[in-house]
Amino acid sequence: MDAMEKAKNILTSHGFVRAVLWIAGILAIAAVVTLLVFGRRMDGTGSSAPAPNEPIIVSVAAGDTLSKLLSEQGIGHNDINAIANVLKTDAGISGLRADRDKIEFVRDGENNSVSKITVVPGPWRRVELTCDAGGKWQCNAIDIERDTRLVYRQGEILDGDSFYLAGMRADIPAGILAEVYDLLAFEMDFERDVRAGQKFSVVYEENYRDGEKVDNGSVVVVSFDALRGNVKMYRFRKSDKTVGYYDPNGNGAIKSLKRTPINNAKVTSSFSTRRKHPVLGFTRAHKGVDFRAPTGTPIPSAGAGRVVARGYNRGHGNFVRIRHNGSFETLYAHMSKFAKNVKVGTTVKQGQIIGYSGSTGLSTGPHLHYEIIKDGKHVNPMTVKLPAINNLDAANKKKFLEYRETLDKAIEQMADKPGSFIQM
Ligand SMILES: [Zn+2]
Repeated sequence: MDAMEKAKNILTSHGFVRAVLWIAGILAIAAVVTLLVFGRRMDGTGSSAPAPNEPIIVSVAAGDTLSKLLSEQGIGHNDINAIANVLKTDAGISGLRADRDKIEFVRDGENNSVSKITVVPGPWRRVELTCDAGGKWQCNAIDIERDTRLVYRQGEILDGDSFYLAGMRADIPAGILAEVYDLLAFEMDFERDVRAGQKFSVVYEENYRDGEKVDNGSVVVVSFDALRGNVKMYRFRKSDKTVGYYDPNGNGAIKSLKRTPINNAKVTSSFSTRRKHPVLGFTRAHKGVDFRAPTGTPIPSAGAGRVVARGYNRGHGNFVRIRHNGSFETLYAHMSKFAKNVKVGTTVKQGQIIGYSGSTGLSTGPHLHYEIIKDGKHVNPMTVKLPAINNLDAANKKKFLEYRETLDKAIEQMADKPGSFIQM
């Protein structure tokens, strides 16, 4: 009874906090909209100057470049070049991203020229540019402190469910769910390992500023009761500051290659040493796995490596072959087109888009045909043992195991109290 009362109180206070946050959110949106409308109007007419020190906020749209936006504010060619240089060397910003970045301009009251420019590449960073007396532009990057909470979500696969549907029902944000997919894809075959009744849980970060939620951070822990046992991964920062994911024993969970390069794609044909070829009609080994993918679906590289072949042949159509560290190669076939800048000799990262799915070559419809070749022999991508990257040394492993224990206790608490969180 007592526990019920407590839970009720938590829920009601949670509801109240949500209402307050909601109202605050609406007010914040209204404020931003006002500023944007104001900023754009100033932008358009340019006749009525804003009050001094009142920033003009310009949202970067498709087709906008730094020099275009700066020259629209009356900034001269030489200053534009100087600003672009200092942004690149001091803040690592070499281009603007449409629909994400913003630029704020503050004008000097005396001669109405721009005296301060602030590039805002997202909610956690501001890069302020000011011009000193000698006409030299200076850059000052400010990282905004975030207030991070860990939240816990759990769910269950129901009959006829996909993991995606079950995840959405468990109130896991789509972006977090995509990351969870990426992680689990190293260990699981979503086609064959997912069944009704399986439970899963995710711990992830929510970032707040001044009590208001701004965005989601990283996936911290993921756990899935797969058919062949529980798959669990923890995010951990090593002493050299690099971040990775590890299984409960501290083994690297990120593998050098992905079994499923495209997330959530249905397997339409498995690896086999004998199968009737759908086009040729006679029995022939299927040396890879086919994933259903509408024409134009981006194909990421399964691992880091170097492109060793890119071309066309009658069977594979447009294909790319990549050599990875060690003894592995991967091949991607039937592409409609290649990614720009991906040529023989190009070094690619894991997840980098190398081409787009299609139905070129001997193919009955748009799909990705994916092969893993180990020491020159084709192997089954779904079952081959893949090497882990980013393993822990003894000192880091000890640290990891302590961290994991603390985290496990925190998770137990959050699982007991729905709606609760851990303040970091
Ligand atoms: Zn195939």
